[in-house]
Amino acid sequence: MSFSLDDLIPISALQHVLFCERQYALIHLEQLWAENQFTAEGKVLHERVDAEHHESRRLFRQEYGMAIRFLEKGLIGKCDLVELWFSGDGKVKRVSPVEFKRGRQKADDVDRVQVCAQALCLEEMFDITIETGQLYYLQEHRRSDVVLDEEIRRKTLALIDRIRAIGETGRTPSADYESKKCDRCSLIDSCMPKHTGIDSRSVDHFIQSQLRSVKNAYADNETE
Ligand code: SF4
Repeated sequence: MSFSLDDLIPISALQHVLFCERQYALIHLEQLWAENQFTAEGKVLHERVDAEHHESRRLFRQEYGMAIRFLEKGLIGKCDLVELWFSGDGKVKRVSPVEFKRGRQKADDVDRVQVCAQALCLEEMFDITIETGQLYYLQEHRRSDVVLDEEIRRKTLALIDRIRAIGETGRTPSADYESKKCDRCSLIDSCMPKHTGIDSRSVDHFIQSQLRSVKNAYADNETE
């Protein structure tokens, strides 16, 4: 299956949809974005990583900021770091994505899904199987392995399908306030989860009905 430019899914969308489906829709369907402390720190870290130099030895190479894609599923993105090992005849024999994060290891799968999505791209690009990727958490100053087992692969592929399903409805899911995630969400001011139990389509209908009332009132005035 081939995808048009508009149908391509950025890897970041997988993390957003896993964190909150409304956040995904606000960012990727309604093009809303707001920085907060967490996103700003993450951005600075990734700019620093992207500016790093490549390390290259005869049978090993590090590539920073590599553009990646998974054509089969229409997924695109960029890897903070890709490490490549070569055999003596110059063929790629092992590939591993490394993702840098500003905080500490999380209990949920948001970061693991990102590494898995990167690995799916790299597997297709290099026609290779990747068994592990890595996460580097700045506050812990160490890398940890991400085992790319069937479970995380299934979850990652299901998220891609979920994104396509939400896109097909063209509808932003309604807000569902959860203090643990909403209070650290950069979109809390636009989303207003405590006050709006309504979705964008409802807002749209409300605006349209108000416009119709104004139009009707104007037409009544004209005929009087
Ligand atoms: S504020 Fe809460 S409901 Fe709204 S987008 Fe963010 S996480 Fe989702």
